[in-house]
Amino acid sequence: MQPAVPVAMSLLAASLFAGGGASAYQLRKTTGGVPVHWDSDTITVVADASLSALGPDAISAATRAFAAWSEVQGADGPGVVLVDGVADELGYREGDENKNTLRYEPDGYAPAGGALAITVLTFDSTGKIVDADIVINGGGSHGFAVLPGGDPKKGVKNEAVGGSYDVEDVLTHEAGHFFGLAHSDAGPEATMYFATARGEIKKRDLSLDDESGFRSIYPEARAFTAACSVSPGAGSSGPGLAAAALLATAIVLVGRRRANLLDL
Ligand SMILES: [Zn+2]
Repeated sequence: MQPAVPVAMSLLAASLFAGGGASAYQLRKTTGGVPVHWDSDTITVVADASLSALGPDAISAATRAFAAWSEVQGADGPGVVLVDGVADELGYREGDENKNTLRYEPDGYAPAGGALAITVLTFDSTGKIVDADIVINGGGSHGFAVLPGGDPKKGVKNEAVGGSYDVEDVLTHEAGHFFGLAHSDAGPEATMYFATARGEIKKRDLSLDDESGFRSIYPEARAFTAACSVSPGAGSSGPGLAAAALLATAIVLVGRRRANLLDL
């Protein structure tokens, strides 16, 4: 059966790529059209204790999932540091600490429906991400495991352990959302393609399309322009820091119940 692509995403794709351009990646943007992005060099993510149910290698798998993006050549993306802890409530709350979190819900997380995972991003009107929470959805028949590496060549499935979804495969996709990417139209070889399969590990390795998308959000040397704009003693607390209104919380989750759907 032909995978059912969510209508909203189809329309977006049609409007942006009707000209048949080479790029298929999509960026998540503010209503004003600014790509959402992190505005710091290092981001701390609390790895919730619930992840231990996915096996002793779950944290390592998550670390690799974020690193796959942070290490893209020719980009200046932020690094992610995972720390053990307890996740706070999902989403953003004004005035609270708002930890960035990664957690596993073994009995399922209802708002995620049939999706394998969701990423809840909150960003302000400038596109700056202020909170991100990733949930691995263990509901239904979803079984997760950190699968053996297998052949790193793209497209290889690990059939021997085909009954489980690979934690690293799923989290590398969610990490793409975490950094600001939306779903790609580049096809199933892309990490940001919207679906995966049991036993699949190919999303661990970014496609050229994924890397291009990441570079477009985090071009090299962006940190320098930001640093050079700081003028000590100028009496400013930073442009728009306090005034930036939160425009949107993009809840990246499932719109329909279908097997192998990563999220929406
Ligand atoms: Zn997704």
